[in-house]
Amino acid sequence: MASPQHATAPTALADRITCLAESATIKMAQDSRELKNQGFDVADLSLGEPDFDTPEHIKEAGIQAIRDNYSHYTPVPGYLSLRQAIAEKLKRDNNLQYDPSQIVVSTGAKQSIANLILCLCNPGDEVILPAPYWVSYPAMVQLAEANTVTIPTTVSHNFKITPQQLEEAITPNTKAFLFSSPCNPTGAVYSEEELGALAEVFERHPHVTIISDEIYEYIRFSEGHPTIASFTKLKDRTVVANGLSKGVAMTGWRVGYIAAPEQLAKACTKMQGQFTSGTCGIAQKAAETAISSDLSPTFQMRDIFKERKELVLKELKTIDGLSPNKPEGAFYVFPNVEVFLGTTYHDWHIETAVDLCSYLLNVWHVSTVPGDAFGSPGHIRLSYAASDATLKEALDRLKRGLQALC
Ligand code: PMP
Ligand code: GLU
Repeated sequence: MASPQHATAPTALADRITCLAESATIKMAQDSRELKNQGFDVADLSLGEPDFDTPEHIKEAGIQAIRDNYSHYTPVPGYLSLRQAIAEKLKRDNNLQYDPSQIVVSTGAKQSIANLILCLCNPGDEVILPAPYWVSYPAMVQLAEANTVTIPTTVSHNFKITPQQLEEAITPNTKAFLFSSPCNPTGAVYSEEELGALAEVFERHPHVTIISDEIYEYIRFSEGHPTIASFTKLKDRTVVANGLSKGVAMTGWRVGYIAAPEQLAKACTKMQGQFTSGTCGIAQKAAETAISSDLSPTFQMRDIFKERKELVLKELKTIDGLSPNKPEGAFYVFPNVEVFLGTTYHDWHIETAVDLCSYLLNVWHVSTVPGDAFGSPGHIRLSYAASDATLKEALDRLKRGLQALC
């Protein structure tokens, strides 16, 4: 029989998990949920998730899939019918030609990108991330024992890198370049010309794989969606990662995908075959309907996000010292808050954006995410994927909370 001493000995976890940071977006959402469960009314702008429900016709497709017994294991890269629908979507929306054999469906774009990084990187390889970047990218690079190389950007360049910065960041060890446009957390969008200028740099460095995270494709406030995959000289080493979470309000269904060179698609399928297998059949059938049907619910949601963006920017401009950027897509704004660092409120000493977000949550019950997690300390991220009433309340609390600091 085990002695009590043995029974209480802590499990020694692997370094890979003890050294891994918790996802800051998920942590802030969890902290807000806990406060709500304690009875506090929290105005939550932490999680990047549409507040809309999945459109009815997509839900119906999911219900029908249950009735039709899509309850078995699915092919690891996804049903052929879904991969065909994705290939048609890529042609229809992006003028990109892919064969279904180049498409792998996963349990969210998060898994798609993790598969890619694990399939591409050896220990010591470098992955270039323009900062601010989405929180999970460096964690995935770390899990692959590769190194993150960041390219800093500022609001004066609309949080976009220049071709010169890219050129300087590439080394013989660079394995991949990973970015999102529209960007989480800034809402920055690269134009066709800007992507073209970056593409010219990549042409000189054929050892670099480009991963273009396009999950916010449909949430853009001007026409079109330029993609770096459209530059034909790069196509055989560019991967488009996308998913259903944002554009069609299907976050919880967990469907993402990549369109990739076939060798990489096969590698991701192999990886997924050992980790998770094919994603849920019911979710895949619903996704097939979402991708193939009329996108008007998506465009209605986008128009509402655009109105909310205007509302948020208008309110943020009334807060002395805050410098908001002008998002062109996604549903985030990423203001600089440096002017509030080094201030106090009673026992609260605000030295970093992490302190600021903690103060705002615990004292004013408004939830945001510190820029540190996105590689840009001195900023906070606000998600405006929330109702007008929540936004107004949150911005009012934010204003009072910031003005109370001295
Ligand atoms: N990429 C970006 C830039 C994101 O913001 C997110 C979070 N939704 C994802 C990928 C992952 O999305 P999901 O796993 O829900 O498809
Ligand atoms: N991607 C969303 C966000 O940035 C959802 C949370 C997450 O997966 O990180 O808030």
